[in-house]
Amino acid sequence: MNRIVFVGRRVVVEAGDPIPRLPDDETLERALGRDRLEASFVDVRLSGPNGAPVQVHVLEDDDLAVADGSGLEASPLRSAWRDLDPRDFDVVGTARQKADWVLTHRFCGRCAAPTLLDPNTEGLRCTECDQIHYPRIAPAVIVLVQRGRNALLGRSPRFPEGVYSTLAGFVEPGETLEACVHREIEEESGVRVHNLRYFGSQSHPFPHSLMVGFVADWLEGDLRIDPDELVDARWFDVDDLPRRPHPRSIAFRLIEDFEQRVRAELGSR
Ligand SMILES: [Zn+2]
Repeated sequence: MNRIVFVGRRVVVEAGDPIPRLPDDETLERALGRDRLEASFVDVRLSGPNGAPVQVHVLEDDDLAVADGSGLEASPLRSAWRDLDPRDFDVVGTARQKADWVLTHRFCGRCAAPTLLDPNTEGLRCTECDQIHYPRIAPAVIVLVQRGRNALLGRSPRFPEGVYSTLAGFVEPGETLEACVHREIEEESGVRVHNLRYFGSQSHPFPHSLMVGFVADWLEGDLRIDPDELVDARWFDVDDLPRRPHPRSIAFRLIEDFEQRVRAELGSR
């Protein structure tokens, strides 16, 4: 893999059996033409799973028409996340975030002069006032709240039918991750928590988040959901868990971890 090609917000993949894959250089050049690729080059620093440099290209929406019959197709980023090899998707997600940043910071937000990629900082440096602009990463906490053998899970109106997930929310300026956990859980569900444990994190390039996972114990309060955020939230018994989010999500791993811990505890009694 030496190139990742986007068409607008979608990534170009090659139909594969049973799942799509990233096309190799030759396939891309044959289907799209070297000139079209050169013209769509976006200057970002990126390397693939093997450490080799990767070039990023962003084509216009109708550019893929020339590739008809080549087996190439433009896949929405979320489908690519579910379908591609996870190591390949890591590079695709990083490419998308860096390309978005370069394409939306071509001019300085301070003085409006053009910016250029700065080799020392890997930021975009203003050619007039020297201001450096760095990529945006928006941290969000995602929390499994536990009460004995029950987990607190909620449904956002955006979720597929029947799916419940762990509660989540964006960190605000000046806030610690811990303060964010306390605020978000209380705002969304009305309950207060304690005993926060760090679980793990996941880059979430939709468009530029970092999900930081925690487990917390219920402390006090009854469920009182925020109708702007959730259509439902409940305590689910470990034996009666609802349909979960996608297995590649950190939410899925949080719920799986809860299930395993509670079962191990029940089994050892
Ligand atoms: Zn400037």
